[in-house]
Amino acid sequence: MDGIKKDYVFHRDLKKEYPIITHGVGVYLIDENGKKYLDACSGAVAANLGHGIISIGESMAEQAKKAAFVHTMRFETKALHELAETIGKMAPIHLNKVYFTTGGSEANESALKLARQFHRDAGRPQKHIVIGRWQSYHGNTIGSLSAGGDVKRRHAYTPNLLNYAHVYSPYCHRCPYDRQKNDCLSKQNWTCVTDIEKTILELGPENVSAFIAEPIVGSQQGAVPPPPGYFEKVRELCDRYEIVLIIDEVMTGFGRTGTNFATEQIGIEPDIITFGKGVSAGYAPLAGMIVHDRLIDGLIQNSDGKFIHGYTYSGHPVAVAAGLAALEVYEQEMVLENVKKQGPYLVNRLLELKQKHSYISDVRGKGLLIGIELVKDRKHDLLFDPSEKAAERLNGIAIELGAVFYPGSGAIDGTKGEHLIISPPLNVTNTEIDEIVRILDESFTIFKGLLRK
Ligand code: PLP
Repeated sequence: MDGIKKDYVFHRDLKKEYPIITHGVGVYLIDENGKKYLDACSGAVAANLGHGIISIGESMAEQAKKAAFVHTMRFETKALHELAETIGKMAPIHLNKVYFTTGGSEANESALKLARQFHRDAGRPQKHIVIGRWQSYHGNTIGSLSAGGDVKRRHAYTPNLLNYAHVYSPYCHRCPYDRQKNDCLSKQNWTCVTDIEKTILELGPENVSAFIAEPIVGSQQGAVPPPPGYFEKVRELCDRYEIVLIIDEVMTGFGRTGTNFATEQIGIEPDIITFGKGVSAGYAPLAGMIVHDRLIDGLIQNSDGKFIHGYTYSGHPVAVAAGLAALEVYEQEMVLENVKKQGPYLVNRLLELKQKHSYISDVRGKGLLIGIELVKDRKHDLLFDPSEKAAERLNGIAIELGAVFYPGSGAIDGTKGEHLIISPPLNVTNTEIDEIVRILDESFTIFKGLLRK
């Protein structure tokens, strides 16, 4: 077939050729031809400490040499205990037990199942429906895909998806409920909240098991934080109708937004926090969930302490060793301080770029999870047609120039929203941010020339 690659690798796109990366140094990846790429999105917002950290590699190698695998139905390791304790202590006060998986999709899948088991065993057997949000991404397994709202990824699998419900998340810059920001906030009558209650009542509260949301919407919308007070209202609804509140921190966890978890900034205590990516800074497939004492007590009282679930690689010793070593580096490099300093610096530099390029209509985010919304013409609020693949093309130009970003499009219904996430490693310097902005600036100029042709 035309353009199909002739090698053995089955990637997402069988027609695409990608550079072969030989190694990485700090924020840079280097390919076999010696070309450098500034990793301005930490891969998939995962390589949060950059590349080539020897101490993490050595910890993994040492563990692999000692015991490469132990089955957590029979044995545990010291590193497993240490990492769970470290994460438990970073989390909100009543979230103490940590369950490990290999990826964020599995973490969310586990959280959805735990919510269901918790209700079933507590004598609420009907509770099984999950409410998610259209602008959220929670993963690619059937459960997590059903809970999320990635329309393009859901489309092919529609008959396989679970019958979960969805609401829109707040996006005051371009409200999906067509409310005016000032009117909405001053009246405190937020459609994005009343719609949740309406949905619960329509489904019947006795049927709803969990509500799942990202604290700051990542890949589906490009780093959109909620208006202050939104999650307090969500928490109230979940309490009122006995619904497990799952906050997906797979992208936001471990300092990305300037605090250990973004949950600290949204002012609530969830029932479950899921995490991934940053926990090992991308050095090993590691993710999981941190669970509220209330759910653990329920499991002990009603289920003899048994969660009916499990994975072969849960708590894998080498992955756990990577996690422990990564969290040590976060501490040593005082990453949280750096995010608090570099986040505002990056935002200011992007706001300067906004003055120059009318393709940028919004700069938003928290810490070093920053997004820009791309439009065809800011003055007339003219959106790109999805077929123009604006974000993807802009990123393609940037890659040629030596920096890689995280493009996204098609939030809500596949017709709205083009954005770029800028999320460099959390130990990025001022000079590296300047380079990111310079390459983005040049990319916009080339992009403009291409659009005119
Ligand atoms: N949840 C969020 C918020 C994510 O951003 C992602 C991945 O991008 C996932 C879940 C899925 O994680 P994974 O790809 O590790 O399965």
